[in-house]
Amino acid sequence: RLPTVAIVGRPNVGKSTLFNRLVGRKVALVDDRPGVTRDRREGEAKLVGLEFRVIDTAGYEDEDPQTLPGRMRQQTEAAVRDADVALFLIDGREGLTPLDEEIGRWLRAGKTPVVVAANKAEGRAGETGRLEAYALGLGDPIAISAEHGEGIVDLFDLLRPHV
Ligand code: GDP
Ligand code: MG
Repeated sequence: RLPTVAIVGRPNVGKSTLFNRLVGRKVALVDDRPGVTRDRREGEAKLVGLEFRVIDTAGYEDEDPQTLPGRMRQQTEAAVRDADVALFLIDGREGLTPLDEEIGRWLRAGKTPVVVAANKAEGRAGETGRLEAYALGLGDPIAISAEHGEGIVDLFDLLRPHV
């Protein structure tokens, strides 16, 4: 079985855009409305000598397992627990939000290794958010742009030890 990378983060940070870039096809639904990815999507990434399974997770808003968002969160948590590494995406332009911090706390408490990336950082737009993300206590965040394909080689360098 291929090693697995689970992309996790709050709605609208660019998880599905990154998934599509890594997998090389438009598999995941990209949408301006937060939380549009309704189910787990999986694909295979092959690049610069690495080959791994990618999961585009959906939802981390609601703790109540009786609701749809709550079930999505349970799916996300299960995907991260089963993954070889979690790719924690934040929005480099918006910086850290309370939900980012909550997800960060949950990731810190778990056993899955974590790589943090500040997305939407084309040019130097994401530098403030990238620096803020040090406060998550999950290592050195890198700046990427899923939409423009920037920082992807750096990202692979960070993933390499885990896949
Ligand atoms: P998700 O909810 O985390 O899966 O986020 P999506 O992939 O659906 O993206 C949410 C929005 O952010 C869409 O409008 C994307 O076009 C936009 N987006 C994603 N990646 C980037 C990026 O690298 N730069 C910029 N400027 N926008 C991005
Ligand atoms: Mg999505």
